[in-house]
Amino acid sequence: MNIAIDGPAGAGKSTVAKGVAKKLGFIYVDTGAMFRAMALYFLRNHLDVTKKEVLEQEVKNIEVTLKFEQGEQQVLLNGENVGGLIRTEEVGNTASIIAVNQAIRSRLLEIQQKIARENNVVMDGRDIGTCVLPNAQVKIYLTASSKERAKRRYEELLKKGVDCDINDIEEDIIKRDQADMNREIAPLRQAEDAVLIDSSHMTIEEVVDAIIEQYDQKK
Ligand code: C5P
Repeated sequence: MNIAIDGPAGAGKSTVAKGVAKKLGFIYVDTGAMFRAMALYFLRNHLDVTKKEVLEQEVKNIEVTLKFEQGEQQVLLNGENVGGLIRTEEVGNTASIIAVNQAIRSRLLEIQQKIARENNVVMDGRDIGTCVLPNAQVKIYLTASSKERAKRRYEELLKKGVDCDINDIEEDIIKRDQADMNREIAPLRQAEDAVLIDSSHMTIEEVVDAIIEQYDQKK
């Protein structure tokens, strides 16, 4: 059984997907973390991510693997657990730049499809319902207004003690959405058979329940 959740940055996909996976006893797979781990490699090595040749050459040297410990996904970059290093805006924006590249996507696609073949998964990302798991039994397109998404990110960062400006965050979110929606390969869009959920005025619990309801209808 596969549940695919796609949507723009900051829509709450990972929180909701984790909640659904916990309730159903499924594995939660965060595909964004895989792109972020790859992005970290390019940043660390000061490589020019706008150059196709660089991406295609370097992808051969990058091994991204996922491990699951007590149901929690751990992401490894060439054997190193980088979970604690990939949650910055810089890594997110770089992930979005390298995500336009076919060689990068193909490499990760293989790993994503294998996990979904071997496990019951809730997988979130941008192209899960459209490309990675076109046969997923449940497909959700989760969105929220850019204002609401910026507000959530802002509050999350404040809690972590990071000083930031809410307008800058919203601008960043809109920019990343544009890049993800308008790229040629595997753009972010709602699959034809996906259910649209706008979480702008919903609690996490309400969204989780709405997805479980979809699952109950399909199982
Ligand atoms: O979801 P998250 O913010 O961690 O994803 C970082 C970036 O990775 C996204 O903006 C997107 O460009 C890319 N991504 C993707 N396909 C996925 C997951 C993430 O292109 N399935």
